[in-house]
Amino acid sequence: MKLPLEGAIDCDVHLSVPNVATLLPYMSDYWSDQLVTRYIDRVGFNLTSYPPRSPLTVRDDWRAAPGRPTGLAALQADVLDPGRLSGAICHTMHGAMALFNEDMGAEFCKAINAWVAKEWLDRDPRLRASILVHAQNPALAVEEIERCAGDKRFVAVLLPVMGDSPLGRRIYWPIYEACERYGLSLAVHAGSTYRNPPTAAGWPSYQSEDYMLQSSAFENLIVGFLAEGVFQKFPGLKLVCMESGFTWMPTFLWRTSKTWRGVRTEVPWLDRVPAEIIREHVRLTLQPVDAPRDPKILNKIFEQIACDDMIVYSSDYPHGHFDGDNGLPEGLSHELLRKIAIDNPRAAFPRLATVEAPDTKETV
Ligand code: ZN
Repeated sequence: MKLPLEGAIDCDVHLSVPNVATLLPYMSDYWSDQLVTRYIDRVGFNLTSYPPRSPLTVRDDWRAAPGRPTGLAALQADVLDPGRLSGAICHTMHGAMALFNEDMGAEFCKAINAWVAKEWLDRDPRLRASILVHAQNPALAVEEIERCAGDKRFVAVLLPVMGDSPLGRRIYWPIYEACERYGLSLAVHAGSTYRNPPTAAGWPSYQSEDYMLQSSAFENLIVGFLAEGVFQKFPGLKLVCMESGFTWMPTFLWRTSKTWRGVRTEVPWLDRVPAEIIREHVRLTLQPVDAPRDPKILNKIFEQIACDDMIVYSSDYPHGHFDGDNGLPEGLSHELLRKIAIDNPRAAFPRLATVEAPDTKETV
């Protein structure tokens, strides 16, 4: 189904740092000098799960070409204007996330967040962004959150779903405490620092395996958050799973809740059925829609999820998941589409309250 859906908010738009040289003006003299003298400024820093020529990386008609706009103008022409969006949340997945040098990683994140604010947020009032942090050192990550949190256009903290260790572990809790303290959502995006293989059994051969198996990493993520008691410790935390797919959620809700009944003495802090906790705290982005085209099947999946608040609209721009402006699945009710596109994003990212609200009349 086509946008526009007046007032929709796109929760997953990707920004790409052109090169390291772009970031040097945002770095300290020390790090700028280090990167240049060590030739690190010539490294691409692309996370390899997105091969540059793949449609998953950039949709064909959104690819750079002679006569096409670039940068912000391209984002406006491809997504913001035709969709009549009231807001879009930008995420910058960058190889800095995978650096072993914690100080260098933190400096990159700081530079990227400053670049995002100046080159994107300052130039279009519809744009919002997540704060990129280097999670391997949570103390430095919290410093960066505190540095950026005063800017209300930052609405989330961004982490890749696969890092050094399960994200539910207490070592990461200072990041979640900072999220809760500042009203920032936790945006966990498909991706890896490649410390560990993307399959539970070891390293696969192909990128397609890596991409298809990302959804299992989100299952690992949520199970870890449940078992470690993250949502009990931080009751205000919203976890938004980005580019995760969502059709696995019905069986996941059933399996986690059934298993909990048999082993709940091990995790007594889980005082409710896990499905209830997930429905309260976890949100998933819409694209890529990993469902058949038959609207009956998709409606059945929503019926089984039994939570119309759970899915938030995303285009996943510039990745290619749909043709033209058909970013919304066919066959869903107007009421549900309105929730997915407008109401749910605003609830999942409370800082979106500063985005101008759409006219309240029916616009679907
Ligand atoms: Zn994405």
